[in-house]
Amino acid sequence: MSSEKNWHSMPVEEVFKMLDTSPSGLSQEEARRRLEVYGYNRLEEEKKVSPLKLFIEQFKNPLTALLLFATILSLLIGETLDAVVIIVLVLAGALLGFYQEYRAERALEALKKMSSPQATVIRDGVIKVVSSEEVVPGDIIVLSAGDKIAADARLIETVDLRVDEAILTGESAPVDKETGILEVDTPLAERTNMVFAGTAVVYGKGKGVVVATGTNTELGKIAESLQEVKTEKTPLEKQLDMLGKVLLILMVIVATIVSLVGMFYWKMRLIDLILWAVSLAVAAVPEALPVIVTGSLAIGVYKMAKRKAIVRKLPAVETLGSTTYICSDKTGTMTKGEMTVVKAWIFDQEIEVTGTGYQPVGKLLSNKEPVNISENKALELLLLNAFNNNDAQLVQEDSKWTLRGDTTEGALKVFALKAGINQSLERIGEIPFSSERKRMSTLHPWREFNVMFVKGATEIILQLSSKIMLPSGKLFDINEDIRERIMKVNDDFARQGLRNIAFAVKFFPSEKNVIKEEDEGDLIFLGIAALIDPPRPEVYPALETCRRAGIKVAMITGDHKLTAVTVAKQLGLLDEGDVVITGTELEKLNDNDLENMVEKIRVFARVSPEHKLRIVRALKKKNHVVAMTGDGVNDAPALKAADVGIAMGITGSEVAKEAAAMVLADDNFATIVEAIKLGREIFENIRKYLIYLLSANIAELLTPLFATFLGLPIPFTATQLLWINLITDGAPAIALSLEPGEPDLLERKPRKPNSPIFTREEIIGFLVTTPLILTISLTLLFKNLIDLGIPEVEARTTLFTTMILTELLLAYLLRSLRRPIYELSPLRNKTLILVLILSFVIQLGMLSIPIVQAALNISKISIDDFEKALIVLALIFVTVETSKAIIRILEKRQYP
Ligand code: ATP
Repeated sequence: MSSEKNWHSMPVEEVFKMLDTSPSGLSQEEARRRLEVYGYNRLEEEKKVSPLKLFIEQFKNPLTALLLFATILSLLIGETLDAVVIIVLVLAGALLGFYQEYRAERALEALKKMSSPQATVIRDGVIKVVSSEEVVPGDIIVLSAGDKIAADARLIETVDLRVDEAILTGESAPVDKETGILEVDTPLAERTNMVFAGTAVVYGKGKGVVVATGTNTELGKIAESLQEVKTEKTPLEKQLDMLGKVLLILMVIVATIVSLVGMFYWKMRLIDLILWAVSLAVAAVPEALPVIVTGSLAIGVYKMAKRKAIVRKLPAVETLGSTTYICSDKTGTMTKGEMTVVKAWIFDQEIEVTGTGYQPVGKLLSNKEPVNISENKALELLLLNAFNNNDAQLVQEDSKWTLRGDTTEGALKVFALKAGINQSLERIGEIPFSSERKRMSTLHPWREFNVMFVKGATEIILQLSSKIMLPSGKLFDINEDIRERIMKVNDDFARQGLRNIAFAVKFFPSEKNVIKEEDEGDLIFLGIAALIDPPRPEVYPALETCRRAGIKVAMITGDHKLTAVTVAKQLGLLDEGDVVITGTELEKLNDNDLENMVEKIRVFARVSPEHKLRIVRALKKKNHVVAMTGDGVNDAPALKAADVGIAMGITGSEVAKEAAAMVLADDNFATIVEAIKLGREIFENIRKYLIYLLSANIAELLTPLFATFLGLPIPFTATQLLWINLITDGAPAIALSLEPGEPDLLERKPRKPNSPIFTREEIIGFLVTTPLILTISLTLLFKNLIDLGIPEVEARTTLFTTMILTELLLAYLLRSLRRPIYELSPLRNKTLILVLILSFVIQLGMLSIPIVQAALNISKISIDDFEKALIVLALIFVTVETSKAIIRILEKRQYP
């Protein structure tokens, strides 16, 4: 269906007819059929990397290409065996690389699916949330504030609908939308009865019939210019690129020196030298490091997703681990978000409401006696207000009541139903709720009037009211005394941790059929309903974990200060000396004042979304790594500004999700802490296997160099180098990345972002001392064997075997960069143990298989030689464990 048609100049009925649909939407069956005809609603076919292509790409790296080239050369001059062995080893290496990348690719793909955007449509007459990709022409889409519009649509219903179309038109002010018919030649930017894919609803609500999807949308037409979404390199990957370069330079130096010596001293043939030097390069330069790291991050992200934290941006995994401050919404994140009205107040009587959950069964009691609604005009109107100024839907599925919509409104609807009020009034006007307004108004014909129902935060409703209704229906002017009494009731409820919603009405003559903000004054106050929203039990231990991990937590809420304080106290979030501040107080602070006190503030109450941005900025100025949660469309700027923006998966708007780096599938605070823990674990594991790979590779590079200095023969042949590379760089490194987090991972202070991957002590201990000791002992071992007159082949075999065994030991020791190895049970990482045992057996077994002996140019080794190898192993054990111990002592001194 093309958008060339002038949908904007047609009456809505004609649009329905042309698209063969109706206000009650398509049937599920028809939608499926249309999906086949029109295709998925997306801009480009997902570029899937085929496994074959991925495999071929493994050979694209220049070193491998060079190696293959040199091998072909050696084949040409008749060195068949070496050439075949090299080709086999290169193929095996490519397979390993392929496996790693394929695994990462798959994890990323799965992730993309999880975080794909959603759209609300009407199918089979009921509201349904579907993946945006499944929207088809003819669908009725339902729009509300915070939605990212999935397809081009002709509007059929709007309530104060405002849309940000900057992405299409460049115009940053939101556009007011309505349903009327427009001139045929109206330019795109002025087609106010249409909404377009990719734009966002910033206010109000509406419905539209989809006229174009996918590449047929206006966005699709300009999509090419928008497709520059690059995957950014993480700070870690950038550091690794650097590291790779350093190793490359080192490699070139070593290769040059050794080649010169080889040519003039060992009198090696040029082709053998080239093969050798290139093999050294392949073995020593961890070309694939960034890929392996991306793979680890991607797989980590996959693990997080299983625990309900969906990371949308890869670098966030890294940043999460170094989070120092979490600013979390209260409602639904720290609390369960399952609201129930438990109390109500009308002048001057407190009402108790029984029953729990969304099942509309319960009683309204006053002084333990059932309340007679029909004799209580104020209460009756309050309940009618609660029922009709309400967008929530309660549905009974298999005898269980579930809620579709906002939890506060759901609870209010249940409250009305418990009292037997279920009269649904036609809604002819509306001013929607927003976190800034903290109220919502609707207009309905009722008896001889058009009545406006207003509900919202008590102080705001009270401010807009001039009268109060008594149970008898009589009206009373609100004087200072009554104002105080109302606020006292409100504060008493709030102090019990209850969330208050106040209600008011205004009567208009029946001609009045639109309402505007100016009409929200001179109201008649009806009363207050108080809702309970208990804390999530899992938040208590999560907060305790944060405390130990050096992460500060602040609660941010639109709720009343006293409600927030009570909940914060219940959670143990408030300590002596902590500050609680409201949005109004925050506004009075300048940026400087805010920065100076922001770290002391534990609770921000009655805040609006724009305050969140200021809070993030102030904390960042204080050098914090800030995680900030949000759900509404107006939270997006704060989510973007935060180091880790976190959107709610269930209640969050599409706009918030898009701005966020992570989405909480369960809206749960505890999940944030879990994700931080995983973030630290992943980062620490990356560090472990980096240290492992680097220290081993440095030794591989230095040993030939040292051997040349001592006038020894070449210590490893080309095929041996490739074999070492294959057996040690692959499986043990991957297995090391599966190491479960160390028990004290969350006892440590957060890592400073952008600080080097390794500390100075780690570099000295693991990347200088360890490889040096390994190199020196290997070279001395080699010298000793040669001096003893042992044949070169056997000496080389011993050296080669020792090198591999030491690297396996190194993998085992580096399971922790701090803890002594005996403190970590070997069974914590069964994969690693399995890999190490297998590698060990293969290595020793190989020594006695004739064909392998021939292929790798090795022989058997004697028990004597083996004993010497054990000395090297022991030396490395002592070096690594001593390095750890020294680092432990130095760090204790630094942060006791
Ligand atoms: P959090 O930021 O912790 O999620 P919140 O959900 O309480 O807090 P808002 O949704 O911004 O924050 O609500 C702010 C206030 O607006 C509430 O305390 C309540 O008084 C009022 N309010 C909330 N929902 C509605 C609604 N649907 N209609 C009218 N008023 C509402």
